[in-house]
Amino acid sequence: MNTTKSYAAKYKEKQREEAKLSGICIRCLAQKAILSRTCCTTCHMKTLIQESFKFDRDRKKPHSSSARGSCYVDQFNTPARKKIISDIIAKFDGTCHYTGIPIEIGLTASLVFKLPKTHVSMYGADAIYAASNVVWCHKGVSALKSNKTDADFRKWLVDSLLQKLISDQIHANHS
Ligand SMILES: [Zn+2]
Repeated sequence: MNTTKSYAAKYKEKQREEAKLSGICIRCLAQKAILSRTCCTTCHMKTLIQESFKFDRDRKKPHSSSARGSCYVDQFNTPARKKIISDIIAKFDGTCHYTGIPIEIGLTASLVFKLPKTHVSMYGADAIYAASNVVWCHKGVSALKSNKTDADFRKWLVDSLLQKLISDQIHANHS
């Protein structure tokens, strides 16, 4: 047990405990937390964005934090971070970028890189780790997209998925 905690740290901890009990976000201590979660929608979005922008899984970069297990890309530095985060939050309109189905933060919404992170050596980190390359979409759709590029994924949706549905429909109509 750490008994040398500062008064400020103890106070903050107490505030968080009280917030948690009354359904208030433990991060900003202001907004209402998402049902069955400890954070509000905005704070949860921030977490999702920060997690998405992690880059060095092997902790090899100069500013890597062993506590977090990975560090942020260079272009996600402190001055740029606020702008990138607010730009990405502003993109959320409650629907999936690819399918238009409703998505909910803390439940079904996830972040997707249009040009996937695996393509960083081809396109460069600046093109990949940019607010313009990030979209909100349904978790299931995000899993389907996987490491496909935005263009390839759209083509794949139409070519394979839609063709299959159309063919099933035709068969159903004829039977
Ligand atoms: Zn919050």
